[in-house]
Amino acid sequence: MTATQPTLNEIRDFKGKYPKQLWYLFATEMWERFCFYGMRGMLAVFMVSQLGLDDKTTNLQYGAIQAFVYAFTFIGGVFADKILGFQKSLFWGALLMITGGLVIAFSPTSTFYVGTCFFIIGTGFFKPNISTMVGALYHADDSRRDAGFSLFYSGINLGALLGGILMVWVGKYHSWPLAFGLVSIVMTLSLINFYFTKKSLGPIGLSPLHPDMPKSKRRGYEIATYLGSLIAIPFILILVTNTRYTDLFMYIIGPLTLVYLGWEMRKFTAQENKRLGAALVFIFFSILFWAFFEQAGGSLSLFALNNLNHSLLGIPMDPNVVNNSSNSLFVIIFAPLVGLLWVWLSKRKLEPNSVVKFGLGFLLLGVAFYAFYATVFFADADGMTSLDIFTLGYFVITFGELCLSPIGLSLMTKLSPGSIQGLMMGMWFLASAYGQYVAGLLGAGMSSADPNATNAVKLHAYTDGYMQLGLYALVAGLVLLAISPFVRKLMRGIH
Ligand code: GLN
Repeated sequence: MTATQPTLNEIRDFKGKYPKQLWYLFATEMWERFCFYGMRGMLAVFMVSQLGLDDKTTNLQYGAIQAFVYAFTFIGGVFADKILGFQKSLFWGALLMITGGLVIAFSPTSTFYVGTCFFIIGTGFFKPNISTMVGALYHADDSRRDAGFSLFYSGINLGALLGGILMVWVGKYHSWPLAFGLVSIVMTLSLINFYFTKKSLGPIGLSPLHPDMPKSKRRGYEIATYLGSLIAIPFILILVTNTRYTDLFMYIIGPLTLVYLGWEMRKFTAQENKRLGAALVFIFFSILFWAFFEQAGGSLSLFALNNLNHSLLGIPMDPNVVNNSSNSLFVIIFAPLVGLLWVWLSKRKLEPNSVVKFGLGFLLLGVAFYAFYATVFFADADGMTSLDIFTLGYFVITFGELCLSPIGLSLMTKLSPGSIQGLMMGMWFLASAYGQYVAGLLGAGMSSADPNATNAVKLHAYTDGYMQLGLYALVAGLVLLAISPFVRKLMRGIH
């Protein structure tokens, strides 16, 4: 290795709190999340205002696209493990996203769905694999890993915040082609950033194929993967545009991944398999967490629209702006601090283990939903209530998220054997796909059946629902704390 191509140990023996490569991956991921959350913010508005879809169809297609984006991370993870390696996967994913942006920008109303399919599959190749590379920057027992993921998580949310504001603003008020074209511009920035910094990753994320494999065979596998992902696009198109297939897809993909994981597990030792068992416990609980948390995009945004005052701490403010951006803003501010708190506690041998962190995450989620519920006590006769208390709920939920989401990413990299890190990270995000899916069902269950219901009736329907979710979250937190000794046993010394 040359001086510019560090070895794995040189990378992992870094001094200070964060390895320098973390900042490079931070920037690459920030731009990708800029596009993801920008697209997410635009989808429903675009479908209703430009494609002329009704609300119901829009909701269903929006949910399907969200679910597919996360579900394809599983496929991206597996192909990275087996053929491409994380670096090439990331490149391929970024190229697909750039293409997707161009395809839609060309003629938004006619090419929207095809471009979105490029985006779905591109994110699948990109998203899990960059997170896995973050984990590879650390020695197995390095207690700075969770702090690294917390910082990385700030990058995610910085992108989310900027993209969520800028892309929606450009699309809604200026030009839809330009807004979708921004995806291509921004992903090109992400790719350039990665290209010029990837040398610093040394061997991390290079091809998993055997070094003795003839070059032509290696190329053959890679090209087959690229072609295969392009051939998948028409099939994804059918799935996204016929949402009745979404349910079917969701029923099949989860069990399929478990069968596949079971098949892979035959290669590992009992110790490694116990750790994978622990990883599955975390993945299962994360489904529940995201199902509650993702009310943000559904029921909480309707609640913000119908029932909240337009004033935050006395300053005029649109409640939907608060609903869409306060979480990201709190994450950007507090994620590095929470990360440093873990390092500080670890030095004093006081850092809670990951199962307890997950448990805390759920307890905070529960408290946050009780805060959303508590808005009912501040309501006037018209069913309008306090944006301040609502924002307090988002403040608390952010700490819950920080105890679970970056820790979960970190755990996947700690608990998975090297050869299936991509698969496990893909499964972690697949849990988010299920979370999104269940979130929609929960939100629909909470909403008042009568479309002409008054705001006061809606207020009670939603806040009663939030109280129940708060209770379930607290129970889940207590269950996690109660089972923590067993899960820790499975984790075999991993913190
Ligand atoms: N907000 C985080 C991200 O975008 C986590 C999302 C998730 O796993 N559901 O990466």
